[in-house]
Amino acid sequence: MDELLEQILRECAPYTKEGALANYIPELAKADPNDFGIFIMSSDGRTNRTGDCHKPFTIQSIVKPILLLQALMDNGIEEVRRHVGVEATGKPFDAINYSDQSLLSDHLNPMVNMGAICMCTLIKGDTYQEKFERLLQLTRRLAGNDSICLNETVYRSEKATGSKNRALAYLLKTYGMIRDDVEEVLDCYFRACSIQVCCADLARIGFVLANHGRLPISGERVFPSEYASYVNAILMTCGMYDGSGEFAVKVGVPAKSGVGGGIMAVVPTRMGIGIYSPALDGKGNSVAGIKALETLSQRLYLSIF
Ligand code: GLU
Repeated sequence: MDELLEQILRECAPYTKEGALANYIPELAKADPNDFGIFIMSSDGRTNRTGDCHKPFTIQSIVKPILLLQALMDNGIEEVRRHVGVEATGKPFDAINYSDQSLLSDHLNPMVNMGAICMCTLIKGDTYQEKFERLLQLTRRLAGNDSICLNETVYRSEKATGSKNRALAYLLKTYGMIRDDVEEVLDCYFRACSIQVCCADLARIGFVLANHGRLPISGERVFPSEYASYVNAILMTCGMYDGSGEFAVKVGVPAKSGVGGGIMAVVPTRMGIGIYSPALDGKGNSVAGIKALETLSQRLYLSIF
């Protein structure tokens, strides 16, 4: 397997030149576009890796499935469904879902920004600092890595420039879909996106989703199996932004990407995969990362379809 990964890394490396670094969050534009790493955690407990798989980057949108898990663990499916729906928007992650003078909770998708901002309010905790700490703890537990922490520089960079997310959050407030102080909710969201991880962390988190909510090796249950099915189904239909259909056809597994260049893929019952390559396509997905997953899926028959 290590050999296969090395071969895929070599074959797909030229694609790192085809994308562009995200620059709307100034700090993200400082990444090295040549970085490329893959990490796999398999159900037999084996791990395989290649390239820059321990290089740190910010989780960005890949925190959305973790936010959804935390919201589900704190409130259950029924209550979460009262606030965010499950239908794909088919629109970019920061789109304003505002076409007919109304905004309904069923239109909020948890894998795009509006839904994610709304989910921050669903985490239990007396303060937004406490809510964020609980989310961070869950991330550490799923990844089996207590040293995961916030990247302060990226957090400050996003907070200073996040006008679009502010606009989205105020729109949510206008329609009564968030009740708390908008700046506090946003602060939690910006921090959540700035959690620093590496491919190994993403592979382990993906593995727990692939393993019906149980940690690798110990088998300890973190969340009920039905939450894994719920989150994986949503990842399948909208985890790769408005490129999710194409990804379903070409790769065929639930996955989530982030503008930091990471992708977390979930191969139900088999493995979790973490990939990092920060050069993105126009939709915000890592170009080389998608290519690597496509190749991996063909060689290992990963598609669930
Ligand atoms: N922090 C980013 C934003 O809200 C996350 C976007 C993403 O990774 O898709 O703009």
